[in-house]
Amino acid sequence: MAQSHSAKRLAARRLAAGALLLGVALLTPAGRAPAPEAPLIREGVVYVVPFQGVTAAELQRAVWALRTQLPQPVQVLPTREVAASTAGEVSAEGVLDALLRDAPDDTFRILGVVHAPLVSEALGPVVGYARRSERALVYSTTRLPGVATEAARRRRVRRIIAHELGHTFGAGHCDVKCVMHSTETATDIDLLPDHYCAEHRAQARAAVQQGLDHPDAVAARAAEQLRLGAWQPAARLYREALGTRPDDVRLHTSLGVALMADGQITAAREAFEAGLHFAPQAAQPYYGLAVLYAAGLAPGRAAAFLEAAVTRDANAVRAHRAAGILYQDVLRNDARAVRHYEAHVQKGGRDPEVIARLTYLISPAMLTFQEPEVVVARWTAAGLMVARATWE
Ligand SMILES: [Zn+2]
Ligand SMILES: [Zn+2]
Repeated sequence: MAQSHSAKRLAARRLAAGALLLGVALLTPAGRAPAPEAPLIREGVVYVVPFQGVTAAELQRAVWALRTQLPQPVQVLPTREVAASTAGEVSAEGVLDALLRDAPDDTFRILGVVHAPLVSEALGPVVGYARRSERALVYSTTRLPGVATEAARRRRVRRIIAHELGHTFGAGHCDVKCVMHSTETATDIDLLPDHYCAEHRAQARAAVQQGLDHPDAVAARAAEQLRLGAWQPAARLYREALGTRPDDVRLHTSLGVALMADGQITAAREAFEAGLHFAPQAAQPYYGLAVLYAAGLAPGRAAAFLEAAVTRDANAVRAHRAAGILYQDVLRNDARAVRHYEAHVQKGGRDPEVIARLTYLISPAMLTFQEPEVVVARWTAAGLMVARATWE
């Protein structure tokens, strides 16, 4: 009994990564109706963490720049060590995650200032970095071309911080005259305007006005913790957000994902079922239940929930991809996996992983679809997967 329970727990943990992928794809916060403001707003604190090698002058510029951008109190935390690669570079994503893991409870935003050059796993060398709608931002004091005056240095730091803060407020890159314009090189920073465009200014203002306890802010913190794999803090925050938004299907589903990943299978099922109750046409809770049952609770029931999810999903290409992978990897049903991969391709999807998996499952073969398009896919003896699309 104990063994079977722990096997289920293991299976659930193994699936957590898959569930999170679904979560990331499906649960991105969309626009919501404005909620009434809480009577007392906890505004939170803006923390600054200097990493080793940052000078007092550099730190002071960061503090000054934050004070020009945000009304919250700014506090400097003790200097931290940073793990650099052999080339002396520091992972931008790694710094953000380290900042968030140790962030004080009342963190509104947390800025890391590093001396070493930053490298993003996704983008390569960067001057600054922040993940959208997460509270951490970082920039490096190196890789910046020298400027003569203190005023020019401050202005540049303020632009970097305004830009990265904009990402934390949810902004992407901006095409109009705006500090959120994409910058490819360090010298580009000096060409950026100082300020946000009207849209991004409004977004920044809204985040500041929301403070820490607005349901959007709580839900964003929950999503941040979920991405970090901090299942219990994530679940606690989703429950807090549900206190003000009890009928929000996204919150129920995300809570279910956090609980499932934490091995709390019964509570996870209840969360997904609550989501279904409030939004019977939403695909997400069905995906959640499919993953949950597939994880060991009742694998035989998973397929029905998965098919229900696919029919409800507005994005058919994504849905067939997810369903195919779940059938192939977890439910061990290759025939159904092939059907979903083929549907992915027929509906215009060209995900390389789907093509590769389809290639593997049907190899060696040639697939002809109803369009005048042929996908040639072969599994070679050397194990190489080849797939290409041609026009007849
Ligand atoms: Zn950017
Ligand atoms: Zn803008």
